[in-house]
Amino acid sequence: MEFQRGNLFYFVRKRFAPSGENEKNVTTRQVKTLRRVASSETAREINRDILLQTIHRNQPVSRADLARMTGLQASTVSVIIGHLIDEGWVLPGVLGRLPRGRRPTFVRLNDKHAILAIDLRPDHANFAAVDINGKLLSRKTEAFPPLKGNKGEVRKILLRVAQQARALRAAHKDRIFDGVGVSISGRVDQKTQKLQFYANGPWAQIDVHKELRAILQSPIEIDNAANASLFAERWFGQLGDATNVLAVSVSEGIGTGLLVDGQLLRGRDGMAGEFGHMPFDESGPMCGCGNKGCWETFASNRAGLRYYRQLVPGSRITTYQELLDLAQAGDLQAMRAIDRMIGKLAEGLTMLNAGLAPEVILIVGDCTALWSRISPVLESKLIEKSLTVRTPRVVAATEGDTARLRGAAALVLHKVLFRRAELK
Ligand SMILES: [Zn+2]
Repeated sequence: MEFQRGNLFYFVRKRFAPSGENEKNVTTRQVKTLRRVASSETAREINRDILLQTIHRNQPVSRADLARMTGLQASTVSVIIGHLIDEGWVLPGVLGRLPRGRRPTFVRLNDKHAILAIDLRPDHANFAAVDINGKLLSRKTEAFPPLKGNKGEVRKILLRVAQQARALRAAHKDRIFDGVGVSISGRVDQKTQKLQFYANGPWAQIDVHKELRAILQSPIEIDNAANASLFAERWFGQLGDATNVLAVSVSEGIGTGLLVDGQLLRGRDGMAGEFGHMPFDESGPMCGCGNKGCWETFASNRAGLRYYRQLVPGSRITTYQELLDLAQAGDLQAMRAIDRMIGKLAEGLTMLNAGLAPEVILIVGDCTALWSRISPVLESKLIEKSLTVRTPRVVAATEGDTARLRGAAALVLHKVLFRRAELK
């Protein structure tokens, strides 16, 4: 199948123009970027991506509708769908009904394919079997005491998590598992798959990738939780055609994932995105990274808990979930603590917005449980400090915990299904 000019322009529109704009709006710079991208990928790979996305969003769908929706030629669609069926990713489904003529066969993604997803946190791990459509087939949580950094102890806990995860995978014998995705709050060098940085816990003490591979006997993809959420939203979620996205993961710390002009920004050794550690107020508290007053010491879940303890001395709550429960039950001090944390989150976001100009800011974290309360705070602050009339759309990832698990699954899908080393 030859690369066709029509396809090229479809791809330009799809990747670079906001929906609703036509190709006249594509700038010379964008076409140059496209040529660079197109020269490093085959046209069929690009068309395959477009078709997979379109099937995912519209399944079950006929080949004729796929051709119409994508602008690809019917023959191109048939050949690629044939390959996807041969590879087992797509299934020919039920026969459709038309008023006249041949009845079309609808195709859909083969949801027998699944991924074992693990989300490693400092004091617990969530894991789930996730199918190719992002559906969580089952999930479990393994809690453990906060780790102190003793290598042997860390290894023992990881072993426990891996064994539980293996048991969960074994409970789904009817599925084809394509690999294991791991989402973590640290930074991972994708060349070595080693954790380069982990501020709020001890996971960097051991080679998580190697240890998990030894127990789970499967390909492992490990990445930062915010980056993973970007992959998840691209495949399962609500990013649409946005090519400039800032994903902000708010948990024990703050990490960001950056999609810049359609490319995931990795930086040196995979360290890009650690805005949680930008100096915010050096008279502030000590941070897990060793510096004082980083942004995350003011705007993370830990900060929210600290604010509550300042307001209610002697309080016995220890987890952010307890703080959220109190706020949802109408506890005034809990709401004040969360408002303060979100105010600081908003302040930091205005700096990132000025520097990065994202179209979408995606918030991932437990705090999104209070979205109706926090989103107006974030939006009004961004509007107040905006340099132009255009401000980014602020959206919450679908459920904090689930978003990180879907992210972990998307890491694997991205490698095996889209055959991509990086998000594009
Ligand atoms: Zn720090």
